[in-house]
Amino acid sequence: MQSNLRIVWIYPDLLSTYGDQGNVLVLEQRARRRGIPVETVHVRSSDPVPEQGDIYLIGGGEDRPQILGAERLRRDGGLHRAIERGAALLAVCAGYQIMGSVFGGEEGQPVAGIELIDISSGRGERRAVGELAAEVDPGLGLPTLTGFENHMGVTRLGPGVRPLSRTVVGTGNGDGTEGCYAGKVVGTYLHGPALARNPALADLLLTWAMGPLPPIDDTWYERLRQERLAAVL
Ligand code: GLN
Repeated sequence: MQSNLRIVWIYPDLLSTYGDQGNVLVLEQRARRRGIPVETVHVRSSDPVPEQGDIYLIGGGEDRPQILGAERLRRDGGLHRAIERGAALLAVCAGYQIMGSVFGGEEGQPVAGIELIDISSGRGERRAVGELAAEVDPGLGLPTLTGFENHMGVTRLGPGVRPLSRTVVGTGNGDGTEGCYAGKVVGTYLHGPALARNPALADLLLTWAMGPLPPIDDTWYERLRQERLAAVL
């Protein structure tokens, strides 16, 4: 029998901007359409992060909730243990920056991240806001990424991670790359939400968690993708 997919949505009370919760809905829907039963836990910042999830998601946020979220996640330790167990993670924008060693606070001051992946962030010169398109690392074999970004932060990748993609339009990490991946962890600046705009990325996470999956009809997703890509390319 197919086992349940366990999705953990981290700190929706602090970190969920520009429809990031849609990432949870897309994963749920794409799993259920393939007959996989789904259990989702929404973990508020006052609650411990469960360690038995298959896919963890965390979204973007303003500077102060981001700082609070980083402190709580570091104290909690549950996400680290889950990733060590082999769980997958999609971390978006503020959530992405939190996964590194450091990020910029509201005055640009360095704030400690949770050191889950080898990245460090700071504040850039100007806000990066608008549509983004990027070509994905050939190692992942995914089509062009599309999304929306709105952040002050810039992110430097260490040798322990690979860039998720190279920007064609937009800012991303700030050095011509966008996002990163390492093991089953993906970080990105993309909202949209990212998985509605990029269903192949959703399926990559699902495959990491559940093994090979049958294709499903993506007509509507593809229309949205093509519309958004045509607006910028
Ligand atoms: N506060 C962070 C920044 O400006 C993240 C913003 C966001 O998540 N949209 O870089």
